[in-house]
Amino acid sequence: MYVQPSGGLEQTARGAEAQALLRNCVHCGFCLPACPTYRITGNELDSPRGRIYLIKQMVEGTAATATTRMHLDRCLTCRACESACPSGVEYGRLIDLGRELVEERVPRPPSQRTLRRGLTEILSRPRLFGALLRAGQAIRPWLPASLRSRIPARQAARSGASTTLHARRVVLLDGCVQPGLQPGINDAAAHVLDRLGIGVERLAGEQCCGALGHHLGHAQRALDQARRNVEACCAALDAGAEGIVSTASACGLMVKDYGRLLADDAAYAERARRVSAATRDLAEIIEPADLRHTAARRTNGPRVAWQAPCTLQHGQRLGGRVEALLEAAGCTLTPTREPKLCCGSAGTYSLLQPALSQELRRRKLAALLEGDPQVIATANIGCLEHLRAASPLPVRHWIEVVSDAYSP
Ligand code: SF4
Ligand code: SF4
Repeated sequence: MYVQPSGGLEQTARGAEAQALLRNCVHCGFCLPACPTYRITGNELDSPRGRIYLIKQMVEGTAATATTRMHLDRCLTCRACESACPSGVEYGRLIDLGRELVEERVPRPPSQRTLRRGLTEILSRPRLFGALLRAGQAIRPWLPASLRSRIPARQAARSGASTTLHARRVVLLDGCVQPGLQPGINDAAAHVLDRLGIGVERLAGEQCCGALGHHLGHAQRALDQARRNVEACCAALDAGAEGIVSTASACGLMVKDYGRLLADDAAYAERARRVSAATRDLAEIIEPADLRHTAARRTNGPRVAWQAPCTLQHGQRLGGRVEALLEAAGCTLTPTREPKLCCGSAGTYSLLQPALSQELRRRKLAALLEGDPQVIATANIGCLEHLRAASPLPVRHWIEVVSDAYSP
């Protein structure tokens, strides 16, 4: 695709980056069937190819409108199109760039700005979010059903933290909303890692990974949070931690991207690359062989429908990894249709685009339930909560299912 940056982008690093990214798209349309929003609306401008065209227009100086912003807002950033594209178009980077441009050129109405700022502030502060969640849980029985389904019952955390000193240690990221919503996930991870001879520690001074601000148009705030986390992670690595581990695939993907996001910050670039290189999803530090000897004691693990978060399969490219771990732990994976389809969660998308989000959830749950599972497993707190709110079956993090195999 020929692109000539204009409208202030000519001779700029951003213009050159846009040109390099857009150049690879050959308009073939192979990405269209993979795109969840295109499959629902049937509108070319809700497809990857259509959005790329809108971004190209902005890069070339054509005036953007509220319609441009609407079609970019509808994108889930699931990156299924990246996995489907034979030309290697880095759509994830393109949509980030397109959103930056549209935020600058088409200011949002005050109500939208306030909502987005509020979501960023509340969801990225674990104490504030935890206090609001507990208040919601206290009045949950009296809330209307639509609201009640969004608020999980209070979970008691198990004492899964390692009390044994191990030679191997990793930092286990807490995340922002997960400790309040599902504290059992990191407890289960600590429990399994402890049994494998790996101690876990928390990150002193952990901030939100920045994904929330990054996707809601607060790029500078996201970069500041990334810098604070880079400092804290480097201190932990210097003190002997062998890696940074996340049980939330969206947060892990963001931290793995710090090296790129801070590449132009001379004070942080090298340390950010170090942190990204040391970051692993939990599924990357456990091997199926680690679990098999325990699974041998279990005759019948549960029948599990596996929902691969987009951030795990398209973002981190870790498809197949958790499936192998669940099977090694004695579970039976039930067949599901459309394993690459987004569930509609996508961070705050479920709040900002409820109609599209709920339709995707309906389709995803129907596909997951077809194989008659006993439980649905996933790898990201956002997907878990989104599916749980409408699922007739329990929805759990895969490490909780595996941890049960380790319990007496
Ligand atoms: S993004 Fe890839 S698959 Fe989609 S139209 Fe462009 S080249 Fe084709
Ligand atoms: S990221 Fe997902 S929703 Fe967005 S264009 Fe690509 S496939 Fe469609």
